[in-house]
Amino acid sequence: MHAALLGSEVADIRELIGPDEPAYRARQLYQALYRQRVRSISEVTTLPAELRRRLEAIPLGLPSIERRYESADGTRRYLLGLADGRTVETVLMPEAGRNTICISTQVGCPVDCKFCLTALMGLERNLTAGEIVGQVLVALADNGLSPGDARVNVVMMGQGEPLLNLPNVLKATRILVDPEGVGLSERRITLSTAGIVPKIDELGQAPVRPKLAVSLNASTEEQRRELMPITRKYHLADLLEACRRYPLRPWEKLTFEYVLLRGVNDSEADARRVVRLLAQLNAKVNLIALNPGPGIPFETPEPERVLAFQRILRRSLPCFIRKPRGRDIFAACGQLKRMAAPASGEFALTR
Ligand code: SAH
Repeated sequence: MHAALLGSEVADIRELIGPDEPAYRARQLYQALYRQRVRSISEVTTLPAELRRRLEAIPLGLPSIERRYESADGTRRYLLGLADGRTVETVLMPEAGRNTICISTQVGCPVDCKFCLTALMGLERNLTAGEIVGQVLVALADNGLSPGDARVNVVMMGQGEPLLNLPNVLKATRILVDPEGVGLSERRITLSTAGIVPKIDELGQAPVRPKLAVSLNASTEEQRRELMPITRKYHLADLLEACRRYPLRPWEKLTFEYVLLRGVNDSEADARRVVRLLAQLNAKVNLIALNPGPGIPFETPEPERVLAFQRILRRSLPCFIRKPRGRDIFAACGQLKRMAAPASGEFALTR
C-alpha cells in the first residue's frame, strides 16, 4: 500500500537495494529492522553512507502512538497512526510472567457480528504486513520489552478478520517468528477467525503460521446465523468440517472462543450442544462473557451462568473463562472501535 521498509523480508530488501550491493547487506538491514528494532535508518551505522542515504528516503513505516489509554487492571490500549492518516488499535495485557499483545489485521472489520463494536465501523482497509509487525514493535518498545527476555504472546484478535487479509498476515507472521527477525516463538502467536472456511484450509498449508482459534459463539446453525451473518455463506457444519481436516502440529490444539450472551446462547442446553459439536476435535474452549458497549443489543450473563456453562463443557474438554481485560478503557474483546475518553477522562460504561 504505502512503500515502507517495515514489512520487507530479506528478498524484498535485496530487490530494493539492487544487485550492486553485496548479498549480506540485505540480511544486515533485515536484522536492524526487526532484531535490533531501530527507530531510524541513521542508527544503522554499519551501512555505507551512500546506501544509508538512499534508504533514509524511504519511510520506516513504524506506526505513531496517537493516544494511550491505561486501564485500572494494567491493560494499555493504543490508538496508532498509520502513514495514510488512518488509525488502528493495539492492546497490551501485562500478566505475571508474560505479556500478551493483541494486534489488528484490518482497519475496522467487514464481518458484521451482532455483538461486536468493531463491526459498527465497517471495513476501512487491510493492514500491510509492515503495519501488522509495526504494532508489535511499538508495543514492545513502549513497554521496554524484548522478545528475548520476556514471555511475549501475540494474538491477532484486534480489529479485523485476519483470514480476509491472509497474505499480509502470513508475511507478518514469518517476520515475527524468524529468529533473525523479531524472534517470537511460533507457539505464541494465535490468529482468531470468524470462520472463513476456504481460508482455514489455506492457512493449514502455510509452512509458518499462527495457531488457529475459531469464534464459535453459537450452538446451532440457526443461532449462529442470527449472531454471525457470515454463517449464511460459511455454514457451521462446513466450518466444523474444515476444523476436522485442519493439519494441527504435534504441539497444537484448536481453540474455540464462545461469547456468552445472557439468555441467548448461555443455557445448559447450549453447553451440551457445544460439547456435541466439538466431540472428535482436539480442542479447547475459551468462554468470554459479553463485553458490553453502546449499540450492542445484548447483556452480560451472571458469573454463575458462565461457571455453570464451563462445568458442562469441562466434562468433555478443557474449557477456560477469559478474564475481561481493560473493559474500563474499551480495550476488551469486541470493544475496539476507537472509543475516545470524554472530557471528564472517564469512559461511560453502562454496565
Ligand atoms: N474477527 C476475528 C478476530 C477478532 S477476535 C474473530 O472473529 O475471531 C475477537 C474475539 O472477541 C472473537 O472471538 C469474538 O467472537 C469476540 N467478541 C466479539 N465481540 C465481543 C464482545 N462484545 N464481548 C466479548 N467477546 C467478543
